[in-house]
Amino acid sequence: MSIGYINGKFISLDELVLPLDERGHQFGDGVYEVIRVYNGVPFMLNEHLDRLITSSKAIKLPITETIEDFTRLINEAIERSQLKDCNVYLQITRGIATRQHLFPEVPVSISMTVRPTKALSEEVRTLGESAIFHEDERWANCYIKSLNLLPNILAKQTAHEAGCFEAILLREDYVTEGTSSNVFMVKDGKVYTTPLSKHILHGITRLAVTKISQKLNIDLIEKHFTKQELLDADEVFITSTTSEVLPIVKVDNQVIGTGKPGEMTKKIYEQFIEETI
Ligand code: PMP
Repeated sequence: MSIGYINGKFISLDELVLPLDERGHQFGDGVYEVIRVYNGVPFMLNEHLDRLITSSKAIKLPITETIEDFTRLINEAIERSQLKDCNVYLQITRGIATRQHLFPEVPVSISMTVRPTKALSEEVRTLGESAIFHEDERWANCYIKSLNLLPNILAKQTAHEAGCFEAILLREDYVTEGTSSNVFMVKDGKVYTTPLSKHILHGITRLAVTKISQKLNIDLIEKHFTKQELLDADEVFITSTTSEVLPIVKVDNQVIGTGKPGEMTKKIYEQFIEETI
């Protein structure tokens, strides 16, 4: 069953718990993680929690909990939900205080939801998805997994209204990432992805793919590439906790490679699924 948690209490998801003066919804003043649970086990939990701590420090959240505390809390939530395949959403905000910009001296708010996974259909996996290009209108610190997702939401909605799954973001003609995914392309047997910097989220699934590439002896090159280079690629795929490794076969109505999910993408996806078992 889906469940919620807020500041020390497990609750049902429809319970009204937050006062109006919560900095999460007034300012988006907080950070979050989405963790996939496969067969009762949170996937790459340490990596997610390391990123949560990095994000929290970057915005100066005064958290007192340790990685061990978060691990216990997440495992307890999963156990209570009795869900085997689910998504954990964990959020930390700067807490509850009368609205003003300066940091209040109050404890952070920690909240969490656990819900069943909505897996992508087999059809989407066999046919691949489509995307649009969109200007990357975000700020300079996209490595922070901040609650402020307005540019991501607007670009994703634009993609949806164009009948597409994702918007691939461009900063001065170079691909940064998707609105909620990292972007990879395959050319002449080599895999390319945008290098880590403050301009992209350091995706956990991206990290899993780099490890898989080493294991399978695939050349993975971290290098900036342009919109045109992506359109000329043999294969394109995106990665995220919720989409895993997902082929993109059309961008801005232009067919990528053969227009079908490619062999390299399949090979990496199959190994990814192996790792989750
Ligand atoms: N980039 C952005 C902007 C995202 O929101 C996400 C999804 N959280 C990703 C990349 C992929 O990250 P992960 O593999 O950790 O889910």
